[in-house]
Amino acid sequence: MKVLIVDDSPVTLALAQARLRDENLDVLCAQGGVEGLEKTRKEHPDLILLDLKMPDLSGYEVCERIKSDPELGSIPIIFLTASDSVEDKVKGLDMGAVDYVAKPFDPVELSARVRAALRVKRLQDLLNLRAQLDPLTELWNRQAMETRLRQEWARTSRHEEVLAFLMMDVDHFKKVNDTYGHPAGDRVLCAMAHVLTVQCRESDLACRYGGEEFAVILPGADSHEAAHLAERCREDVEQLALPAQDRVIRVTASFGVADSKDLVSRDDLLHHADAALYRAKREGRNRVIVWEPYIADTTVPREVTS
Ligand code: GH3
Ligand code: MG
Ligand code: MG
Repeated sequence: MKVLIVDDSPVTLALAQARLRDENLDVLCAQGGVEGLEKTRKEHPDLILLDLKMPDLSGYEVCERIKSDPELGSIPIIFLTASDSVEDKVKGLDMGAVDYVAKPFDPVELSARVRAALRVKRLQDLLNLRAQLDPLTELWNRQAMETRLRQEWARTSRHEEVLAFLMMDVDHFKKVNDTYGHPAGDRVLCAMAHVLTVQCRESDLACRYGGEEFAVILPGADSHEAAHLAERCREDVEQLALPAQDRVIRVTASFGVADSKDLVSRDDLLHHADAALYRAKREGRNRVIVWEPYIADTTVPREVTS
């Protein structure tokens, strides 16, 4: 894990760095508050050791800026304080620091406190990750998808790029559950997730949108490229043969794709992909439909699973 030490004293930096390197940590140093903030933004460390008194920007100010930044706010901070004042320590902890170490520090104590803070950070990261995953398929969940779509949409608009969105819905899935039972239905959903994972590129984001609906964000792709991905997935799904009791489950899926060209809102991107999916269902299922303006005139928007 990566630890950033921020202190205006080169001696303190050298001592702390030597000690923490022995802990097999990736140790970075910043000499002063301004450099500390810069390195925090650039490196996203797992823990920051932060001196309180620095001439350019105090530890309190650095802490305040980090804690108020949604991207950085969860990084734990340990204050390094020469001061014995209870007031200073309380202020630091109240500002969101997890701990403090008095200077001159005892090297053994410093290492122990760093280990303790990193143990908590690891658990926190694990919980954060779990909260973003769908427990059945281990794809990203809908909330994670919405967060990523917001970010990708902003990035795409900024750089005048394109972004595609794909929706997939298993055909007659209720019948699978009714015929083979819910656990077998669950296995079909996991197989769908596997198809998406195998076919998607590293930069694509596949998620379980809800129930038997899945979605993929394709940064940098247009609906033409998304349709190719959808077609490959459609073929893979059609080839699946999942054993269930003495029979074999076969399923198909329908796909709707759209891209961000000429769109002003990301909700429209979702609505377009959803309208195309609805159209694929109406035209007989087991097919890929790319959104075209004519669809808007012929489709009553479906209610999207929540
Ligand atoms: P269509 O071709 O029109 O999409 O028909 P469908 O039967 O797939 O669609 P419908 O929306 O009627 O049914 C979806 C079913 O998916 C109903 C619901 O019980 C089932 N389902 C939703 N989530 C899960 C799940 O986590 N596991 C299982 N096994 N079934 C689920
Ligand atoms: Mg369905
Ligand atoms: Mg459905």
